[in-house]
Amino acid sequence: MSDVDGFDLTRRTVLKTAGAAAVGASFAGCLAGGDDQPAVDPDAETETAYGNCWMCHHACGQELTVRDGTAVDINGVDEHPRGSAGPGTEGTLCPKGQAELEKLYDPDRITQPYIREDGELREADWDEAFEYTARRLEEFADEHGPEQLLDATSWSTTNVHEYFWGNLYGTPESIGRGRHVCFGGPHLSGNLMGLGANMRFVDYQHSDYIIAWGRNIFESFAGQWEPKGVLEALENGATLVVVDPQHTPTAQKADHWLPIEPRTDGALALAMGHVIIEEELYDEAFVEEQTHGFDAYQEAVADKTPEWAEDITGIDAELIREIATDFAEAAPAAGIALWTGVGQYAEAQKASQNVFALNGLVGNIDRPGGFRMWQGPPLQMNPFEERGIDLPNNAEGRQPALQLSPEYEDYPFRHTTGIGHTVVPEMVDNGHIMGMVNHYDNPLTDGSTQAWLEAIETMDLVITIDAYWNELTRNADVVFPEAIQLEKDTLINYAPTWSAYHDRRWISASKAVHEPLGDCKSGYEIYKGLAEELGWGEYFPWESEAEYNEDMLANIDYTFEEVAEQNFVLLEEFEYEQWEENGFPTATGQFQFDLDEEGGYAESADELGIDTAPEWIPPGTWGDEPDDEYPLHFYDTRSVFFSFGADQPLEHLHEQYARKHGLEGEDYRGNYLVMNPRDAEPRGIETGDMVTVETAAGEGDEPAMAYVSERTQPGFVTAEFGFGTGNSHEEGMNTMWVHDTQHDPVSSQVDRHLAAEIRPAGGD
Ligand code: SF4
Repeated sequence: MSDVDGFDLTRRTVLKTAGAAAVGASFAGCLAGGDDQPAVDPDAETETAYGNCWMCHHACGQELTVRDGTAVDINGVDEHPRGSAGPGTEGTLCPKGQAELEKLYDPDRITQPYIREDGELREADWDEAFEYTARRLEEFADEHGPEQLLDATSWSTTNVHEYFWGNLYGTPESIGRGRHVCFGGPHLSGNLMGLGANMRFVDYQHSDYIIAWGRNIFESFAGQWEPKGVLEALENGATLVVVDPQHTPTAQKADHWLPIEPRTDGALALAMGHVIIEEELYDEAFVEEQTHGFDAYQEAVADKTPEWAEDITGIDAELIREIATDFAEAAPAAGIALWTGVGQYAEAQKASQNVFALNGLVGNIDRPGGFRMWQGPPLQMNPFEERGIDLPNNAEGRQPALQLSPEYEDYPFRHTTGIGHTVVPEMVDNGHIMGMVNHYDNPLTDGSTQAWLEAIETMDLVITIDAYWNELTRNADVVFPEAIQLEKDTLINYAPTWSAYHDRRWISASKAVHEPLGDCKSGYEIYKGLAEELGWGEYFPWESEAEYNEDMLANIDYTFEEVAEQNFVLLEEFEYEQWEENGFPTATGQFQFDLDEEGGYAESADELGIDTAPEWIPPGTWGDEPDDEYPLHFYDTRSVFFSFGADQPLEHLHEQYARKHGLEGEDYRGNYLVMNPRDAEPRGIETGDMVTVETAAGEGDEPAMAYVSERTQPGFVTAEFGFGTGNSHEEGMNTMWVHDTQHDPVSSQVDRHLAAEIRPAGGD
């Protein structure tokens, strides 16, 4: 266990409550009767305004009622591609989305810039903050070189940061969220096999057979369209199969619940492939004409019988046969939705490769009801080109140390995915990363929090753009307060692809509903201000984000104003079976069972001694396994209430989270540790008791409150990640406190599974 002791041993003096207090005071004049929402004239006329929810960044349309300049109500937008089930259906928002109104007026938000002076953060105005940051960036470049500044941008609503840090400052490497944090293995496998990065979304409404593989779609989704699409499919008579160690709300609605042994998904998938080939239920024409490496796949599944898989997965062999047969017979109108459940353990890349192989086998790819190859709008993602701006590429020729230094030869993922979260602290320790810019993310929740705390302590420069105080913002040298989505003109350019419209491209945009709270600015304005200070003003000719967005719409026959006025616009149609014309975006141009032609991957596989074809990689090969000392599987989970800790200061969400666990009567508003009675009773633990989690990395920073439920399997305990130390809501255990450096060595995905022991903590 590291000797970092929470906040106390940090080099920098920590501003823990002073900032929040100052912010609260500055906003207090607007508060009405203790409510954070300003007082409104009840007789004032109401107006309707639109937004695109950014609480989990999936952009469900928001319809806001504004009275007397204050947003007083928030609802979904009917027929919105992300927030509804499509044509003629109601748009809704999940609890997080509804809570954005609370965030809009939250006095705990950071509402002005801060810079560090004499070891302490102090309030600054924007001119001063820009000037200070520009000077520090120039000094950093002189001393370390831009390659030592890591770009940790996550959910920015603007893509301008890529040009700022990469093209202008010259930072060659970044860490992101999807690639290494949420579903590294599936992301890598899906891309290399030819399914693209959106490999996890089924053409739900047209599907006859949906397998939610490690997914709880009714509680954890990429927009409201997902659960609604599944519900529509069920109403149409589709079969739903859920593969999950927990009996989730999605499992409750399923025709079959397969309570699989944790981390044995790869074995189940291989056995299903075995049955489908043995029963000759596969799509021979598709396999013959559109795929690469079928022989290797056939060989890989040859001895993987359902009986073999039963021993490993705990799923009855006959049930495996039935599911495999029914899935293949329903194909191509049969789809597999897979995401973080199979994405967040050390053997995940190969497990997801085994699962994705089933798509190629039954030929459900880009066919109605199967796996859809979604198409985004034809945005001009580089508006600089539109303006004829000759943007330099100052990152060109600079390589991050990960690729150059022999110290990282133990990390095969450097061939495939670049820097991962678990290696950053080591690179800081080695002096290869000495600074970081962070934009709406908290890498302290991705990889060992303790190691990250030490890393940011060692760095020479930490810049962050965020809305709340957390351990990163408190320890930064510069804090820029960013306006939230409702306070800025936003074009949804991040992921307007998958949606309730299976055959239409779409675009969504919105104008600011409200003036930014305090002195917040949009991400675009922050980068423009900083660029001007650094002498790069010529590269930022757009006066506003709306103007920049206008140029992003250069290829689309709508102005920003027009899209924002109606919130979303459906664009041209696209067809199924796009592979007929375009092939697959892989080295062979085909769907790849075997990744032997993918050079970087083949190098990683060779170093690890694994196959390039589907293969069974047993749990414990890279991640740890339960033993006498740590007999339980401990998993991070995510719920409908929070997104990566970013929404956790919001009280309504805590209330709902507590209510879901029947613990609303308790004072405690932190993390809940979910466990089965068969594990709880021998340990003398009951619902409402405080418990500690211990792994080989040490004991949790704080206790969690136990929630004992039959709905979770014996031997399997879970807690929400994004809580506790390091996050903006600090009550309750931070699951990353008990993590070390476990990761998937192929994809660099943080391994969110650990062997653990749970003990009563005493107290309440
Ligand atoms: S799923 Fe919920 S949090 Fe995510 S964008 Fe939609 S309403 Fe917002």
